[in-house]
Order: sequence, then structure tokens, then C-alpha cells
Amino acid sequence: MPIATVNPATGETLKTYQAMDEQEIERRLELAEATFRTYRTTGFAERARLLNRAADLLEEDQEEIGRVVTTEMGKPIRQARAEAVKCAKAMRWYAGHAEELLADETPADADVRDSGASRVVVRYRPLGPVLAVMPWNFPLWQVVRFAAPALMAGNVGLLKHASNVPQTALYLEDLFHRAGFPEGCFQTLLIGSAAVDDVLRDERVKAATLTGSEPAGRAVASTAGEMIKKTVLELGGSDPFVVMPSADLDRAARVAVTARCQNTGQSCIAAKRFIVHDDVHDAFAERFVAGMKALRVGDPMDEETEVGPLSSERGRADLEELVDDAVRGGATVLCGGERPDGPGWYYPPTVLSGITREMRIHREEAFGPVATLYRAADLDEAVLIANDSPFGLSSNVWTGDEAEADRFIRDLEAGGVFFNGMTASHPAFPFGGVKRSGYGRELSGHGIREFCNITTVWHG
Ligand code: NAP
Repeated sequence: MPIATVNPATGETLKTYQAMDEQEIERRLELAEATFRTYRTTGFAERARLLNRAADLLEEDQEEIGRVVTTEMGKPIRQARAEAVKCAKAMRWYAGHAEELLADETPADADVRDSGASRVVVRYRPLGPVLAVMPWNFPLWQVVRFAAPALMAGNVGLLKHASNVPQTALYLEDLFHRAGFPEGCFQTLLIGSAAVDDVLRDERVKAATLTGSEPAGRAVASTAGEMIKKTVLELGGSDPFVVMPSADLDRAARVAVTARCQNTGQSCIAAKRFIVHDDVHDAFAERFVAGMKALRVGDPMDEETEVGPLSSERGRADLEELVDDAVRGGATVLCGGERPDGPGWYYPPTVLSGITREMRIHREEAFGPVATLYRAADLDEAVLIANDSPFGLSSNVWTGDEAEADRFIRDLEAGGVFFNGMTASHPAFPFGGVKRSGYGRELSGHGIREFCNITTVWHG
């Protein structure tokens, strides 16, 4: 894949970049290692000052960088600006909380005595340069979600961003630089995915985090495994959205539309499979389909647009293939299902019912505004359908019944269970999945500790 900005709303190639050569990559790896040697000795107050400054700059830049993001990957402009603001919030959160999250821990007195020590502390020390391989769908957020905790912990970052968002990738390097972080704390490597392996094998790179597809995750994790390097993987999802009879149907249907179609449906934590109890299935379906049809699809630069084009021609073709396969297998199209004529990689909000286990869309991730509807006879069947997926990122359940809620918490195979609302990430809460959605956690105290050397300090 060329490293280039190609506008998804028109298909036009706007700017192409030359990948960095070996010498440049070497220079950057050297700089990362050298910078780490001194940056690791800085205090939390200094790191927080720099990160808060980066947050201020990003907020000031929201209009400009929002337009870059929309031009590169096609998300509606209001959502692009909101992404920048959300990043600033996460930066401030980590600036304010890192010291407390990484404070020394003291084991219980009895255990300290039992070990024969006079004093024991557990200290969180940084690891070194961390490679971040990131996707285009939230091109600011995915990076900041890694960078803010990594920099606060005293690590330095090397970003290999998706090849279709080079301007955003370069902007991020510049942002941290303007904020005052020493050169080398956060660098962008403009490289294709084939060059990742060599960087990951380099001794100076201590760990890696990847957000993206399963094949990319597998490639990075296997090399990292060979090199015995820590990884965090945030991969695909096909989150269930379960609606039980006690749910507020109007609200559930309204939120379902947003949960499926925000970011033009290209979100790992988008609700993708809508599993509705028999008693309320038809009433929910009617409201949901009406909401999907009412979405304003169009030019992502238009303030009123709710659904833009998909990010790439390939992305649209993949989605179409999933829909066509389901239709061939007997699925019913309740709305959408056909690409419009004209330029840009648009695909309409689509709802499919009559899904069977044989259809690809039942097991694969639909990365675009396509929802599948399932009917469940009772709670047990709802859980069975929800768990019948290789993925386990998050889940949504609509119910007013506490006992039912407990059953879902006990039984759903996912890294999150969100009741009566849609899944959204927040800096204070852990984020990540189980099964083929990956492992490790981002955000919160769990996220910042992933790339730390958790050190036992024992005094005799
Ligand atoms: P992708 O193809 O896996 O790309 C993600 C990143 O990995 C890009 O930087 C890409 O570089 C790189 N890459 C691809 N193949 C690689 C390989 N063999 N070795 C090393 N690096 C490789 O993913 P995508 O299709 O663009 O993004 C959508 C996917 O990301 C979806 O599955 C979505 O669910 C997932 N996602 C997950 C989360 C989460 O938090 N769990 C969040 C957002 C998205 P190039 O661009 O140069 O190919």
C-alpha cells in the first residue's frame, strides 16, 4: 500500500510520500534510545507539564487537524473535531493521574517480614522505546491512547501509522515536539507494513502495541514472541447489542443507530450484531430501521453529515462482499444494501435479518454501517448468540432487570459490558478484549502499567 493521502469522498490522490529509508529509520531508532536514557529520569511534574501543553495545542488545532483527518479517512468533520477534543481530555487525565497510578506499592507488613526483609516496595519503571502500529479509523485517538500513558510512564514512542493517514501521523510527531517533549520522545516512522518486522526485531525497541486487524496482530505478536517482547493487541470486534423486554425501546433504537454508524461504522467497538428478545423484536426492528434510513449520508466536510464514505475502496468492497454473501445465503435486506453510483466510497446504512451461522457476516467483522438483526427466545439464547463469535471486545445490554444484568455480566465473553448505553472508551476505564479481539488493556491504571518494568525492590 502506498503511503498517501487519498480522499475517500472523491477517490482522488492528494499527496504521496516516500517511505523512510534504512538510514533514516536507523537514525530515528538511535535517537529514540538516546532520548530514553535521559527522558526516563525526568519527573512526573515535568512530563505532565509537557503533556498538558500538547493537550492545549491539540485543542487549538482541532479545526485544522479535523479537516486533515476527514480528508485522509473520510469521517464526518464534527466527529473528527470531537476526536481531537477527546484526545486532549485523555492527555490531561494522564497528566493528572500518572503519578498516583504509578506510585510505589508496599506489600503487607506480614509478607515483608515473612520474606526476611526490612522493607519492600514495588516500583513501576519505564521499559524504553515502544513501537506503536496504529490504524486509520481513529487516527488521533488510537495514537494518543498509547502515547499519553507511555510518555507519562517515562517511555518513548515510535509510531508506525496506517499508510492512508500520513499527514495525521506527521502532525502527531510535530504536536509532541511543539509541546516541548525532547526530540526523540515521540517519532513517526513513515514506513509500510513490510518494514515493521525489522523495526520490531531491533534490540532498541523494547515492546509493541498494535491496534488493527487480526492478520496484522498475528504478524506483530509472532515476531514479538520470537524476540520475547511484550505486546498489547487491540484487534477487531463484532460487539453484540442485546435488547431485553424491559428495555426502553425508543432509546435503545436511537442509541443502536449511533452505536452502529458512528465513524461510518468503522469502529472496533461499534455494536454490530443486534440480538433482540422475541417479545420486543418487531417493535425494536421497526424503530431501528427507521433510524438507520433517516441518517444523513454525504460529504464528510458538511457539518450536517452523519455518515461519510468508507475509508478505502477495498474497505467498501470487503463490506459489500459480506452483505452479498449473506443475501445469497437467504438474509433479508431491511434497508440499504446497495452502493450508490458516483464518486467516493459510500455505502448506505444497512440492516440485515435472517442471519444464519453459515453466513460470513455472522463470524466476521462488518467494518462499515451494516447491522445484523437476530431474534432470541430468551436470555439464554441471547447469551448463546452473543458469545457465538470469535471476537470478544465489548458488549451492550438493554435491560431494566438487575437479576438479568448479573447474568449478562457473568456470562458474556467480552472485555466490557455496557448497560443501557453504547460502548465508549474513557481514560479512567480499562479498554480491551478477549478471544480474537486481542489481549492486554489500554487506558486507566491497567493501560499505563502495561509498558512498565514492575520492579520488586527488597531491602534486607
Ligand atoms: P490493519 O490493516 O491491520 O492496519 C492496522 C495497522 O497495522 C496499519 O498501520 C497497517 O499498516 C499495519 N499492518 C498491517 N499489516 C501488517 C503486518 N503484517 N505487519 C505489521 N503491520 C501491519 O487494520 P485496518 O483494516 O486498517 O483497521 C481496521 C481494523 O482495526 C479492524 O479490524 C478494527 O476492528 C481494528 N481496530 C481495533 C481497535 C481496538 O481497539 N480493538 C480499534 C480500532 C480498530 P499499513 O496501513 O501500512 O498496511
